[in-house]
Amino acid sequence: MKDNFQREINYMRLSVTELCNLRCRYCMPEDGICKIDHGLIMTEDEMITAVEAAAELGIIKLRITGGEPLVKKNIVSICARAAKVSGIQEVCVTTNGVLLPKLAKGLRAAGVARLNISLDTLDPDKFNYITRIGKLSDVMDGIKTALNAGYRKLKINTVLIGGFNDNEIRDFARITMDYPIDVRFIELMPMYDSGDFGPKAFIKCDKVLEMLPEAVPVETDGVARLYRMPGAKGNIGLISPVSDHFCAECNRIRLTADGKLKPCLHSNQEINIKGLTKDEMVRKMRETIFAKPERHAKLSFASRSESGRNMNEIGG
Ligand code: SAM
Ligand code: SF4
Repeated sequence: MKDNFQREINYMRLSVTELCNLRCRYCMPEDGICKIDHGLIMTEDEMITAVEAAAELGIIKLRITGGEPLVKKNIVSICARAAKVSGIQEVCVTTNGVLLPKLAKGLRAAGVARLNISLDTLDPDKFNYITRIGKLSDVMDGIKTALNAGYRKLKINTVLIGGFNDNEIRDFARITMDYPIDVRFIELMPMYDSGDFGPKAFIKCDKVLEMLPEAVPVETDGVARLYRMPGAKGNIGLISPVSDHFCAECNRIRLTADGKLKPCLHSNQEINIKGLTKDEMVRKMRETIFAKPERHAKLSFASRSESGRNMNEIGG
């Protein structure tokens, strides 16, 4: 359905958990998060009912996210059931990739059409630093397993962090030369608590184009501006929520693991649907779509996102 500003809302991001097996410094605090009482998290049945309600209102694309969605024990079942909901044309998953060696095949069999894998550095020590606890080889194994499981068009999401990975832009671009993988650079967003990173760490996506002058524009893909290196098999994507917000094209709503609908990533508006019937969920979702603000306030590290949550508590 259309919102008040004539935007067609057809995409929902469903966070299935706030928990994660990594602790990325820009995403969540070092000690992880206060584990919410299990009873406050939506059950699998509630999640599926919410997907059915969303589909009734014209949501056709679903992205499963988290926290880390693959730490959720019933993730394959959630994906398989969501993919069968009438009206849902595509179920995708965003993951840090660590558990893909175990789960890529199962996700594929469950009908997950695409995977986005987050990866901020190709250096093992830097990977361990940025994730506080992770091993780069786990993600690399995950990417290989996903390719072998038949995921032909993988996307790697890389948060640009000045002084940390801006010297790796060309190394990431090289991946697109050798594999059918899109590498998408995302500007660091000043969330509720972005850990150790302040204004100096923020760099605009334009820096990628400065570093890769031979990349040519090809098309846009949702919120990403796409470029391609000559002879490459994959694209370079630029996602600039801070320097060039894309609110006018926003087509999405979000549902958190504790059952809160968020009309906008950067607003603190939340509408509870946990515990409701499907018809009640449909009504609340309609309200949420109508409550979608025209745009979010300007983001900066001086005036952080108004969302009041860290990214692992929303899902990106
Ligand atoms: N755990 C999964 C993962 O890392 O892909 C899914 C959840 S994670 C919150 C979703 C995306 O949000 C990831 O690509 C992550 O890099 C990104 N993200 C987290 N915090 C961010 C921030 N402060 N600014 C920009 N992107 C952020
Ligand atoms: Fe976990 Fe993803 Fe956040 Fe990293 S970005 S801490 S992998 S939820």
